[in-house]
Amino acid sequence: MRCLRRARRFGVVAPYLSGYNRAIPARAVKPMDFSLTAEHEMVRKTVQDFARREVAPIVREWDRKHDMAPHILPRMGELGLLGLCLPVRYGGQGMDYLSLGLACEELEAVDSTLRVVMSVHVGLNSLGLFQWGTEEQKQRFLVPQARGEKIAGFALTEPGAGSDVASIRSSARREGQDYVLNGEKTWISLASKAHHVLWFARTDPHPADPHDGITCFLLETDRPGVTRGDHHGKLGVRAGSTGWIHCQDVRVPAANRLGEEGEGFRIAMACLDNGRYTVAAGAAGLIRACLEASVRYAQERQTFGKTIAHHQLIQAKIARMVRDYEAARLLYLRAGWMKNQGLRNTRETSLAKWYATDAGFTAAAEAVQLHGAYGYSDEYEVERHLRNAKGEMIYEGTSEIHLLIQAGYALGFRRDMPLRCELPAYDPDIWHAEA
Ligand SMILES: Cc1cc2nc3c(=O)[nH]c(=O)nc-3n(C[C@H](O)[C@H](O)[C@H](O)COP(=O)(O)OP(=O)(O)OC[C@H]3O[C@@H](n4cnc5c(N)ncnc54)[C@H](O)[C@@H]3O)c2cc1C
Repeated sequence: MRCLRRARRFGVVAPYLSGYNRAIPARAVKPMDFSLTAEHEMVRKTVQDFARREVAPIVREWDRKHDMAPHILPRMGELGLLGLCLPVRYGGQGMDYLSLGLACEELEAVDSTLRVVMSVHVGLNSLGLFQWGTEEQKQRFLVPQARGEKIAGFALTEPGAGSDVASIRSSARREGQDYVLNGEKTWISLASKAHHVLWFARTDPHPADPHDGITCFLLETDRPGVTRGDHHGKLGVRAGSTGWIHCQDVRVPAANRLGEEGEGFRIAMACLDNGRYTVAAGAAGLIRACLEASVRYAQERQTFGKTIAHHQLIQAKIARMVRDYEAARLLYLRAGWMKNQGLRNTRETSLAKWYATDAGFTAAAEAVQLHGAYGYSDEYEVERHLRNAKGEMIYEGTSEIHLLIQAGYALGFRRDMPLRCELPAYDPDIWHAEA
């Protein structure tokens, strides 16, 4: 399978690049269009082939081992997935934000683990760095990440602070040209694999507003004083890595500070706008996988002299999966489209994530039910989807937090303030430029 960028170079998507999108000036809002371009189809097909041919045959074995297949991350790098929607000049593939969503849907239609990699490495870390980093930081950190030479994570959650981000206790003390980091992060995806993480710590222990006084750092995990490990006994994403990272008097140069002092909360929330988008897209893939598995099984399994597909209660389960897949897909595509236009999408992305992950859990539970006892075994993939789906209602904002966000917007309690650095709108001329 060719690297995505090479495929484009060989002309697979040339008609798209020379046509519709190129004529659109950056930041101009395009009219509603539900069609996917040739480039999107190429991304979708490439990722689908990879997931079906290379991941599906091994995922049950690694899920049982509670470990990540060692060749998977290098393979994702080789295919260009780890820099999919980043400009070519930063080592990326030059695709748009919709392509990122489509890739996540295809990955999670097989298993959540690789979509989690995309969420963390691309969504939470690399796009955050792309949005907020200096040119020097992009060259030093983003380029190797986009090329897949370095793996990136996002370290926000602490033992005492998850939903309530402003209560984090990790500290960063300025000493000359350095900061000294202390603290513990937990439930960090790729904790044991990442070379770089975005590390959030308090630079001001007693700010008037607890949302202030948090600062973000680019932390290399091989610095003296960093220790880390994996959590064991997880319900889901067992073929992936989730763990803890501890910093004990870790010195990082001030050049590793992402954004300004005290800007960390806003940076974290902006990163989550991108991570949540990938979770939403992935959850749409999980619903689709449950739907396809259920249709297959319903057409094979017989009870009372006919296939279970002929029982109306089974049809109702399948119809609800169809409804939820279509709705989840449209919600994430809208969020991706808004990102392409450079439009703020916190509200739409939160809605897409909340809807798709709640619907994903329901679809997986119904798919297990439809499979009867066989759904209760890892012989059928719906069992794994159910375990993975539960996590999606917890990370990147629990379902309750997204419910509160949506209520806040609807009731006028919440509105988005402009950011010092916005995620750049997709512009193919800029994204494809070599330098
Ligand atoms: C598989 C997995 C991977 C993860 N990866 C990462 C990662 O890479 N990086 C990272 O930083 N974190 C990661 N997390 C952590 C995740 O983001 C947190 O678990 C999540 O934010 C919830 O925090 P918490 O677990 O501390 O729950 P809490 O915040 O303690 O919440 C407990 C319960 O109370 C509810 N609750 C909290 N506040 C309210 C309220 N105001 N109103 C109503 N209900 C409320 C919650 O919805 C939840 O049901 C991961 C978690 C998992 C499970």
